[in-house]
Amino acid sequence: MISFDEANKIISAELNNLKTKTTESKLLESLNCILAEDIISDINLPPFNSSAMDGFAIKYSKEITKWEMIGEISAGNYKSFKLSNTNTVRIMTGGKLPDDCTAVIPVEDVIDNGSLIELKNSVLIKPGQNIRKLGEDLKQDQVAVQKNTLLSSKHISALATCGKNKVKVYDKLKIAVLVTGDELVDIDKIPTGDKIRGSNLYSLLALIKEMNMTPVNLGFVSDIKSEQERKIKTALESDINILLTTGGVSVGKFDYIPEIFKKLGVQIKFHKVNVKPGKPLIFGTFKNKDKVVFVFGLPGNPVSSFVDFILFVKAHIYKLFKIDEQNSIKADLSESIKKVDNKKHFMRGIYGYNSDSSKYFVEKLVSQSSGNMVGAGRANCLIVVDETTRSVAKGEEVECIMI
Ligand code: AMP
Ligand code: MG
Repeated sequence: MISFDEANKIISAELNNLKTKTTESKLLESLNCILAEDIISDINLPPFNSSAMDGFAIKYSKEITKWEMIGEISAGNYKSFKLSNTNTVRIMTGGKLPDDCTAVIPVEDVIDNGSLIELKNSVLIKPGQNIRKLGEDLKQDQVAVQKNTLLSSKHISALATCGKNKVKVYDKLKIAVLVTGDELVDIDKIPTGDKIRGSNLYSLLALIKEMNMTPVNLGFVSDIKSEQERKIKTALESDINILLTTGGVSVGKFDYIPEIFKKLGVQIKFHKVNVKPGKPLIFGTFKNKDKVVFVFGLPGNPVSSFVDFILFVKAHIYKLFKIDEQNSIKADLSESIKKVDNKKHFMRGIYGYNSDSSKYFVEKLVSQSSGNMVGAGRANCLIVVDETTRSVAKGEEVECIMI
């Protein structure tokens, strides 16, 4: 059995060989995709000096408090005016400013007599006020959005402003899921006798969808070796990038997955990691013509497969695409934690923010059963407890991976 760190090193080194491809995507379709190019602005932003307020454009002079109105400029309707110290142009937000303008007085700060405006008592003008300077947000040819950004709605405006109706994004990885187990029935059935609903299929497909990757649903297969082998072979020879299986990776009599992987030519890189939950994980690679399929045999227990996906699949896909996701926080333990083994634990917990102490706190959930995904559904983090740590006292700080 290898350590968590060793497992990460191995997966990282292997996934580095994954040949990523890119596509031109229409702007809106790029939402939640990973940007594969730096987005450079082809213009200065803003492209001209403009007003940040509805008001009056003036050429600032310390003593002057009255100005004669000589015209108006609205957004998109520039007209040339020559400003002196004593005249002004009415300007609307976004309007291009006259060349000599050095300040904009907001409408609210003047008494407006139509042909003359006068500064209200006690209002002070600062030179440069309410002027958005050409290029102050970004200069032409500078980077607006960096390559490897996971695009969310907040980036779309910047891309649109830079004139990008198409952007280059990484192709979504195709990730297939096959779940094994004689005890499993699909979710539209009422399980009877010794059957249970096979929830892993949906849980993993959801995790893949959440990452905006392409899920491939390979469904259920019973614990018949030849059936499993047939389905896994077909999957490995298809155009997928990653194959996930669940169940059948432990030491039970009907746990065929490791044997099948080996038989089909999967190069096993490790089997079993010193973590809880998720220990029986098996990881390997399969050469399919000129391409490698990365294979994760996840445990059957629903919490184990969920946690393994977050730790070993999601984390490494993000690493491959250099996505810097801030997904962990430090929080103070509400109650002490004890463990009796030397595994690295990822305990389901609930963290929150304490505004009195300005710190995060975290509470371990009572049920840590790797079969209890209903309980895990109430958690919002995984509390990380290292291999050598046996207990963590109340009030001590722990790392929490947000889920
Ligand atoms: P296994 O890894 O196949 O030994 O399965 C470990 C435990 O997880 C057993 O209690 C299985 O019944 C359960 N299990 C396996 N696959 C699923 C699944 N898809 N959904 C829910 N539970 C599962
Ligand atoms: Mg099984």
